[in-house]
Amino acid sequence: MENSKLIDEFYSLVQVDDHDGRYSKDIEGGNYFGMPLASIIEAEKRLRSSAGKGMAYFSMEYGLATSCYNKFSSHFPLEAANRLPENAVFSNFRVADYLFDLRSDNIIDLPIYSGGLGVLAGDTVKTMADYKLPAAAIGILWNSGYFRQKFWFKYGQAPEKMHWDPRSYPGLIPLKNKIKVSFKQEDVYLRLWKYYVYSHKHDYVVPLILLDSNVEPNSERARNLTDQLYRSDNVFLKLLQRVILGFGGIGALAEMGYDINTYHLNEGHAVFAFVAKARGLSGKELEQLKSKFVYTCHTPVEAGHDRFSFDDLDRVLKKEDTDIIEKFGKERPGLANLTLLSMNISSATNAVSHNHQKVMHIQFPKYRDQIQYVTNGVHPYTWMSQEIKSLFGLFPKAFPDFDNNPMILSKAATLKSDSAFRSQLWQAHQANKDNLCKFLGKWKLDKDTFTICWARRVAAYKRPSLILHDIGKLMRIAEEVGPLQIILAGKAHPNDNLGFTYINEMLDKVDGLSENYDKLKIIFLENYDISFGKLLTSSVDVWLNNPLPPFEASGTSGMKAILNGVLQMSTVDGWVAEVSDRPIGAFFGYKNSEGSVGNELDLHMNEDSGELYETLSGLVSLYYKTNQPGKPDISSFWIDMMIECICTAAHFNTYRMLDQYKSLIWKIS
Ligand SMILES: *Cc1c(COP(=O)(O)O)cnc(C)c1O
Repeated sequence: MENSKLIDEFYSLVQVDDHDGRYSKDIEGGNYFGMPLASIIEAEKRLRSSAGKGMAYFSMEYGLATSCYNKFSSHFPLEAANRLPENAVFSNFRVADYLFDLRSDNIIDLPIYSGGLGVLAGDTVKTMADYKLPAAAIGILWNSGYFRQKFWFKYGQAPEKMHWDPRSYPGLIPLKNKIKVSFKQEDVYLRLWKYYVYSHKHDYVVPLILLDSNVEPNSERARNLTDQLYRSDNVFLKLLQRVILGFGGIGALAEMGYDINTYHLNEGHAVFAFVAKARGLSGKELEQLKSKFVYTCHTPVEAGHDRFSFDDLDRVLKKEDTDIIEKFGKERPGLANLTLLSMNISSATNAVSHNHQKVMHIQFPKYRDQIQYVTNGVHPYTWMSQEIKSLFGLFPKAFPDFDNNPMILSKAATLKSDSAFRSQLWQAHQANKDNLCKFLGKWKLDKDTFTICWARRVAAYKRPSLILHDIGKLMRIAEEVGPLQIILAGKAHPNDNLGFTYINEMLDKVDGLSENYDKLKIIFLENYDISFGKLLTSSVDVWLNNPLPPFEASGTSGMKAILNGVLQMSTVDGWVAEVSDRPIGAFFGYKNSEGSVGNELDLHMNEDSGELYETLSGLVSLYYKTNQPGKPDISSFWIDMMIECICTAAHFNTYRMLDQYKSLIWKIS
């Protein structure tokens, strides 16, 4: 098709609000911010005539890794507000912390995520595009993102408001379309935005529709509803954010004219979508509607299940809406539970690992038959480093079609005795590690020193401070077995007091080690985000994961690490429980007894830190036997384990995950 026709067709399908002509500079000549416009037209048309196959995916948050994967280009220079912030470092090398910070000119990731749940949603939508599914994703345009973490010297985390500029964010466009959602006391208008999630080959897209209440003529209060992700300091804000996602999402799909047959709720946050669709239905029609909803539960942690009193619901929602919640989501008189509501209105419910399924069976015995599991995965083309991708290119016999088929990674096993592969895998890893050491150059990191990382959300059950629990033992390993570099990063939710306490404790302990920097370097990075996640999961020697079993539903950061041949040191929980018989690193720690969930506040810090140091000592010793100065031992078992990691990544990716969703949950294959 001619470019001018393409443009006309695009504008007939997508009502861009381009009052100052800004977007017409980036949507031109067959291109959409540097990507093919034709892919959008194909997907938009299919969504309008999907013959009963259309899917809508609902999630509060999306972590799309837009800064490093399928990056859009623009004719306009990058606005300062959309650039990565300067981040401080808190280490036991205080001089460097005072003098330097970490800078980058790169764009921030679209700031509409907080952590793993969002990254999973992003990876899922990217894979839906790779699979060319007629799918649309629904989310919220968080005008101030999540929050920015500032360190306050050694006293902990100070959450700061984050500022970014949606209008100039490449690839994100405001639409002329507005919709209205009706609450008991007021109507709230939502502007719709679109961000196109391209497939790996750029030949297809999944539109992500983002809802934004920051528009006229909304009240000040209503305009703030889509300001910050996961506000929980006020019950009405918390409730209305969820209602907006559900009601607004259904309104947006209708406004777009999409023909949707499957509604996927990524977490119970989105369950008000069902309420919006169920109004006025009964009997058979209601049953039919239930057959279209599916639900993924992401956590066994108590605080992860949203509950609202019917008094609060009544104050906000109309009676016809609370009646539906009363019918399907009542935990006990006066209290609604969104997890129960989600399970009651869905034709399929899934946990996100085999272990998590077992826990859900204990927590919800009545729903036993209904609860399946699909273990999470990561999008392989997002999280694999360029160095490792290039390595595979050098061994086409083993990896003939990696760009279409990540399951081919299991073929790494055939190269176990190929010394060229072993040596180049080590070199690729060293190149990645060198990159990290240069990034932290002012802190004098060394690429031949054992480096371990713990980076994720700071939540009690993840036990962020376990590796610092007994500094004496840690110091002894550094002195007697070999020097250590430890990298830490993570944000605590602004209302999580326990999380704050952990950060204080960790910073305080790091501060106490300032005499020992030659043997034990500890670096806590401020403001953990996707760009740090990508850098760290691909470049350290060992990825540390020490949640208290069985509270990690799945975990995904370790999956990013194994894609890059990075070894695991982990408790046996979440996805790791499915591979604990494989030599991909070392496992340790407390195991909950089958048939019981245990207590998420009984953290077993003493016993498990003891096991942690023992395990660490073994790995450090093997590392230094392997990485002898100037002459790595390529025959080392360490490299066998790196290869086994890559083989394991053949399973823990979103391609295998989507295949299972298709057959078990969506029932479309
Ligand atoms: C992958 C990722 C996570 C998830 O980590 P878990 O191991 O599941 O805790 C959290 N935050 C960021 C920025 C990530 O990239």
